[in-house]
Amino acid sequence: LITADGLTVSYGAGVVLDDVSVTIAPGDLIGIVGPSGSGKSTLLKALLGDLEPTSGTVTRRPDVHVGLVPQVERIDWNFPVTVSECIGMARARGLRTPWITKAERGEIAAVLDRLGLHGLGDRHIRDLSGGQQQRVFIARAVFSGAKVLFLDEPTSGLDVTTRHEVLHLLRDLNADGFTIVLSTHDLNGIATHLPIIVCLNKSVIGAGDPDSVLTPDVLERTYGSPMQVL
Ligand code: ATP
Ligand code: MG
Repeated sequence: LITADGLTVSYGAGVVLDDVSVTIAPGDLIGIVGPSGSGKSTLLKALLGDLEPTSGTVTRRPDVHVGLVPQVERIDWNFPVTVSECIGMARARGLRTPWITKAERGEIAAVLDRLGLHGLGDRHIRDLSGGQQQRVFIARAVFSGAKVLFLDEPTSGLDVTTRHEVLHLLRDLNADGFTIVLSTHDLNGIATHLPIIVCLNKSVIGAGDPDSVLTPDVLERTYGSPMQVL
């Protein structure tokens, strides 16, 4: 669906991604892991086409529409918006009101049910828990019609139980046919449970299934210090 080949991204003199090649195939569930500043978000942006690479190429199948789930932790919730409005905006074309048509109301209710957010449509987003907010943004990407979901740190700031809920939700969506690419700091809680891992630190240090990739050697080269996977 999406291929990066020899992708290099530099800001001024600093190289952020160095000769990165990755392939996203239909049905993949891929986790990009690496320390802070290793280029995970930059790689997602480049794969999305939001960022012009310094060199190398990103090829997307023309029919691929990616739904981006932003890092919820970093959103400023002063903007007053309900759960349904937030989800409905994924299809809004321009500033028409109402954002949500009658037909879309039913669809949004179904998406809310599917993501475990039943009855929360009229709640203000800032009055939801972190895990619920994360699920609203996943719901939004699903409602947009995208079959490929990119999630930047979907479990950061969440407790262990909620992290597992999000992980299960993503695995269910993957089983339902969604192709999913996420970035995560969470080696033990998330990464080890995903079928494909890409260890990133400017370049790809290792890629493949967790058992073969998350070795002490690859982890040390990715994180710059010994890391333990439980
Ligand atoms: P984190 O885990 O903290 O989210 P990350 O792996 O997502 O980190 P990136 O956000 O991709 O890392 O950033 C990689 C590097 O690129 C960092 O050193 C960052 O400061 C730098 N960087 C990112 N965007 C820009 C920009 N627009 N201009 C200059 N430098 C940038
Ligand atoms: Mg990031």
